Amino acid sequence: MNIRTGQGIDFHKLVEGRPLWLGGINIPSGKGCQAHSDGDVLIHAICDALLGAAGLRDIGYHFPDTDEKYEGIDSRILLKETIALIAAKGFAIINIDSTICLEEPRLSDYIEKMRDSLAEVCAIEKDLISVKATTTEKMGFTGRGEGIAAIASVLLGKR
Ligand code: MG
Repeated sequence: MNIRTGQGIDFHKLVEGRPLWLGGINIPSGKGCQAHSDGDVLIHAICDALLGAAGLRDIGYHFPDTDEKYEGIDSRILLKETIALIAAKGFAIINIDSTICLEEPRLSDYIEKMRDSLAEVCAIEKDLISVKATTTEKMGFTGRGEGIAAIASVLLGKR
């Protein structure tokens, strides 16, 4: 089997009055991501990792934020379209690992919901998807609650 690895990273500014979407789950929070789409930073990092592994450039190339059709879009749709792009090149997901960096809210109660949601969109077993979360110990833009970051690694296989 042909094995390919990919990594993705994404950042968004946190602002009041926006919902916080992570992994397709609405997380109760005073702030949400400022974005052209729904701002699901975790899904965006995963999409970039998948595209990178398949040699298919990045999320901004396929889903430009200048295109009105992506305004406010549910990022699960972007993930589904990304999986279709990698599948068209013969790739399937072996596993996904990811980490969300933010100071608050604490995400431990939502990790399993995010894994279930991502497994459903990716149509793979939940066991193949890992979601982790960390604070940055109050340091930097994430520590001050100004923004959020997510990092993802994926492994793809091609028969
Ligand atoms: Mg993004």
